[in-house]
Amino acid sequence: MRVGISVICATAIFGTFSSCKQSNKLTDTRQHKIKVVTTLFPLCDMAKNIGADKVEVSLLLPPGMEAHSFEPKPSDIVKINEADIFVYTGKFMEPWAEGIIKSTVNKNLIVVDASRGTKLIPGVFHNADEPAGSFDPHIWLDFDNAKTMVRNIVQAFQSKDSANKSFYEQAADDYANKLSEVDFAYKTTLAACKGKEIVYAGHYAFGYLANRYGLKYLAAQGVSPDAEPTAKDLINLVMHIKKDKVEYVFYEELTSPKIAETIAGETKAKLLLLNAAHNLAKDEIEKGVSFFDILQRDLDNLKVGLKCQ
Ligand SMILES: [Zn+2]
Repeated sequence: MRVGISVICATAIFGTFSSCKQSNKLTDTRQHKIKVVTTLFPLCDMAKNIGADKVEVSLLLPPGMEAHSFEPKPSDIVKINEADIFVYTGKFMEPWAEGIIKSTVNKNLIVVDASRGTKLIPGVFHNADEPAGSFDPHIWLDFDNAKTMVRNIVQAFQSKDSANKSFYEQAADDYANKLSEVDFAYKTTLAACKGKEIVYAGHYAFGYLANRYGLKYLAAQGVSPDAEPTAKDLINLVMHIKKDKVEYVFYEELTSPKIAETIAGETKAKLLLLNAAHNLAKDEIEKGVSFFDILQRDLDNLKVGLKCQ
């Protein structure tokens, strides 16, 4: 599988890592760049790769922040108002977005709901505080949905800048082709595993991925890490790991490893990272980690954890 991609969503200038701005901003000031504000790392990665040097993409999430607990600051609302295009994942990932969209005064702003046309699956919830009847927001981890998100983004770029329509079209096709390659690698690798269940010491982020490749998925928490797992949830998970002699437990990015370490301590299971790519840590931004880099590492770890040939 080909991994990595020419344009990264993590280049930092001016010593700040709170956005994924273009590295060539200083050298090319003649051309007006389309200002794109995104809410989540995969959207930022897609937008940067589709728009390349014609866009200036920023990510609202500060480095390392857990995405579900994000709430926009007044300065973020200003940023959205000053943008040409605002891309958000959808109302189940960013329930705050709708109110901001309604209140924008910038009449030229194009708002992209990246989930438009995606296939949603119901969320898995653990307690009464979580909104029943809503859907799993982690749509980018189904690679057909990810392609639909790419289509939604490219259409916005093309209507903002019709002179470069074919440029954006080609870049979006390239990105979609990479997603197809990733999908093929996941399909072939995960079809040949001894283990058929992902045991996750984190929130329910991999429902789409497990569904797509015919795996079972057991998570300690619901679709958002805000709700702490109950003692009963943890005991059930530990009992399941012991009963099924699960050797590897996966843990999530950017949250406290306490739950995973507790489970590992109780069961002797080994821990492996499974990164749902909501956001990047500061050191990952510095290294220029791409969405495809994360997906490749996840597949490498799934191969170990599920004992795939
Ligand atoms: Zn999540």
